[in-house]
Amino acid sequence: MARNTILVVGNTTTPVDLEDLTAFAFDVADRLGLPARVAVGMAYDVTDYEGVVLCDTWLDSVPSAVLGVEAGEADMFSIGTQELYGFEPVKTCAHCLEDDDEAAPVYVGGMWAAPVCPSCVATAAGVALHGLSAVAA
Ligand SMILES: [Zn+2]
Repeated sequence: MARNTILVVGNTTTPVDLEDLTAFAFDVADRLGLPARVAVGMAYDVTDYEGVVLCDTWLDSVPSAVLGVEAGEADMFSIGTQELYGFEPVKTCAHCLEDDDEAAPVYVGGMWAAPVCPSCVATAAGVALHGLSAVAA
């Protein structure tokens, strides 16, 4: 179900930490062009995800360390902050597949959906925003 989604791992100890990590997850969705979910706690099966992006270091929190080790053992796509910013922001709408400089991830259902252009966001707002992540996945 979570295939094609990136799990964003980092420190979520305080509400401010969680806010920071959620903001970082926007960049993950924006640069990898895939939906990004922030891991809160460690009750995740990393192999259900397309890959793992780590904010800062594995040592920031216990869940970071646990999920980091699991991703390492699963030999899956797993990058850190520095590698992430080596990717250019995606400028193709995941919904209509048109190039649009304003394409940006949308926060839907507790996660960032893949980048979509403003007109698709406007269209989707009138229908069910949940469809966006379904289309992107
Ligand atoms: Zn579009």
